[in-house]
Amino acid sequence: MENTDFNLISELISHPLRILITSHSNPDGDAIGSSLALWAYMKKKGHTVQVMIPDPYPDFLAWMKGHNEILIFSRDERACIQAIEAAELIISSDYNNLGRLNDAANYVRKSKAVKVLIDHHLNPSDEFDYQISISRISSTSEIIYNFIEEMGDSHLLDKEIAECIYAGIITDTGSLSYACNYVKTYVILAHLFQLGIDGEHLHRLIYDTYSESRLRLLGFSISDQLVVLPEFHTAFITLSKEDLARFDHQIGDTEGVVNYALSIKDINLAALFMERDGIVKVSFRSKGSFPVNTLAAQHFNGGGHRNAAGANCTTTLEETVSKFRLLLPSFQPMLKSVY
Ligand code: 5GP
Ligand code: MN
Repeated sequence: MENTDFNLISELISHPLRILITSHSNPDGDAIGSSLALWAYMKKKGHTVQVMIPDPYPDFLAWMKGHNEILIFSRDERACIQAIEAAELIISSDYNNLGRLNDAANYVRKSKAVKVLIDHHLNPSDEFDYQISISRISSTSEIIYNFIEEMGDSHLLDKEIAECIYAGIITDTGSLSYACNYVKTYVILAHLFQLGIDGEHLHRLIYDTYSESRLRLLGFSISDQLVVLPEFHTAFITLSKEDLARFDHQIGDTEGVVNYALSIKDINLAALFMERDGIVKVSFRSKGSFPVNTLAAQHFNGGGHRNAAGANCTTTLEETVSKFRLLLPSFQPMLKSVY
């Protein structure tokens, strides 16, 4: 189902408002890219705008215009609560239910602000007054581009906004390797280049920023922790708290690790299980027709997209992995016949 309340939202933002843009925990390139692109655009439209996220964003995103003005709930709860209470309009960018705001969720739920969703995940919750929810689009950043276009404001796009949108598209499509078989994505990219972005430079800012310990953690994950189950076309990696501490783990360091497991020939399902304080963070990836969002939602209380999904589990690392392994036989027919 697609929801595109463009006209209603256009009406809503036709006079200056105090707008709070929020995105999800463990923010990725699309979460930050879409939020900051929208932030810059809404400011140009004359609104008073702030961005708030539940927890910090990784360093490799700390170059986008406006990144150092983002409010982070886990670091500055008071300022965030004030911003939530002051907002007349709250936009949820790149996530589909308020629960993904963690401790900030209830403050947002209680707020009397008009709530707008701009997102590309399936099955948005009913907590929003208006929605732009288009799941076939690669990234929320691409939807933000469309949104600005629909508002008749393409002339307000500039190089800095283009850089944020580019980062979102590139990170949510694995550098244009999945979820990107759409002509419009490339038409938009061409326009971003016309606006003056340096794609090669941005690619380096996002991807060539490893610390030595991050690269060694990747090496360890692949050489010591990778389990391959050819009969189930599945490969997975587990990282305990101790493993992460040993490699001086920083936010964002495990980004992309799960994709190496998926890059093996005939492996159609990959998972990364990571022990964090009190929870296990799981990342699922798949090739083609195998829907990891269904797997994540039905068995791990998570969600996401067909080929990239995740969950946060309260079970132990061992329990979570063992549950996953026990589920595999029931998925074997689907895993065998991925198209
Ligand atoms: P990642 O594995 O990169 O953390 O997440 C991949 C995708 O899965 C995200 O873009 C998001 O859509 C989804 N996702 C990750 N963690 C969760 C979660 O805890 N709950 C839900 N509903 N979706 C998640
Ligand atoms: Mn996204």
